[in-house]
Amino acid sequence: MSVAESTAEQQEIVAAVREFVDRDVIPVASELDHRDEFPTALVETMKQMGLFGTTIPEEYGGLGLGLDTFALILIELSRGWVTLPGIMNGSFIGSWMLRMHGTEEQRRTWLPKLASGEIRAAFSMTEPHAGSDVQSIRTTAVRDGDEYVISGQKMWVTNGWRSGMIMLLTKTDPSAVPAHTGMTGFIVEKEPETEPPGLQIPMPGLKKLGYKGVESTELVFDGFRVPAASVLGGEAGVGQGFKYFMSGIEVGRVNVAARGAGIARAALDDALSYAKEREAFGKPIASHQAVQLMLAKMATRAEASRLLVVQAAQAKARGERADLEAGMAKYFATESAQENALDCMRIHGGYGYSLEFRPERYYRDAPLLLIGEGSNEIQQLIIARRLLERA
Ligand SMILES: Cc1cc2nc3c(=O)[nH]c(=O)nc-3n(C[C@H](O)[C@H](O)[C@H](O)COP(=O)(O)OP(=O)(O)OC[C@H]3O[C@@H](n4cnc5c(N)ncnc54)[C@H](O)[C@@H]3O)c2cc1C
Repeated sequence: MSVAESTAEQQEIVAAVREFVDRDVIPVASELDHRDEFPTALVETMKQMGLFGTTIPEEYGGLGLGLDTFALILIELSRGWVTLPGIMNGSFIGSWMLRMHGTEEQRRTWLPKLASGEIRAAFSMTEPHAGSDVQSIRTTAVRDGDEYVISGQKMWVTNGWRSGMIMLLTKTDPSAVPAHTGMTGFIVEKEPETEPPGLQIPMPGLKKLGYKGVESTELVFDGFRVPAASVLGGEAGVGQGFKYFMSGIEVGRVNVAARGAGIARAALDDALSYAKEREAFGKPIASHQAVQLMLAKMATRAEASRLLVVQAAQAKARGERADLEAGMAKYFATESAQENALDCMRIHGGYGYSLEFRPERYYRDAPLLLIGEGSNEIQQLIIARRLLERA
């Protein structure tokens, strides 16, 4: 299937999400953002639409749709408010990792709950001293009979407070060389919005420039006990955590790229309608060539982003190695989001700087995408490495 084509089923679900975004999300997103309020009603609708289970197979209660359809859905949601795909991302990565690396028992336990949205997952690798350099994390998990005892501090955990499950990366052998061979992932069960013994989650969480409405928290583990059966992949998963989490982050990159394409599109849409309405020097500003040049660049960035995102999602869905495609999509779409947000603000003139209009929100939301799921500097290194391997 070419990137320009889509099936009737894809078109139908994407159209339903587009309608939801136009009707329910866009009118309230800036208000919720300014109040930094969790979008409970919107998340309920997303659950009812089955969106949390988009890519989870039907036998586990999901819709069983492809990654390319999911990417198109995420672009639409992000066009309304980037926080919504952010709220979904932990569950998406978590369910992907369970499917790829979990035991059948782990899949049967967790996938139906994630598909229905009954619980949401968080994904936790980053620590106060280590983000890009994943192998230098310090959180340890020490075996004690039928349990592991976890100690250490995690940072920037999206959904850290409201999640009912955390995909947690630890070191089970801190002296291993190379370091990644001593890393193990855990499926940590917890009651949403509570602190179980041995785990502190300081709330209201970390204060941020944008990406409001969803909490970003620290997780402070101190002698936190989990059953040995919660190692992702079972006994065979001990020492495999780095590999499993890198595969999760690669697929999460498609989510972040789609969020970029969504902001790039939203900024273009707002700029187009404002440029046609606003008059300066006796005519709509859209008639001024300098504004047209900006609109042309914005539209090209938005469309190229969408195509790269869908192409990366399709390659990944076919089971191909897709780090080059996902890296390019993430890099280009998120840089496009940032550039379109600024151009949208320029086109809105002084109103672009006002909290009454949306460009200020795009402008605050876009930069996170340059950093998360592997910074754009790291993406460029991945792209170059793959190109050189192929050359
Ligand atoms: C709002 C928010 C939500 C987040 N959510 C999550 C989450 O849910 N789960 C989670 O685990 N993490 C999460 N993160 C963390 C995020 O993934 C990290 O911030 C990111 O990986 C970068 O790590 P760092 O902040 O430690 O920066 P560093 O790794 O310290 O990087 C700092 C700078 O150095 C550059 N750099 C580092 N190494 C290299 C290199 N080898 N070559 C070239 N340049 C390099 C980087 O590109 C960057 O410009 C979140 C972050 C934010 C801000």
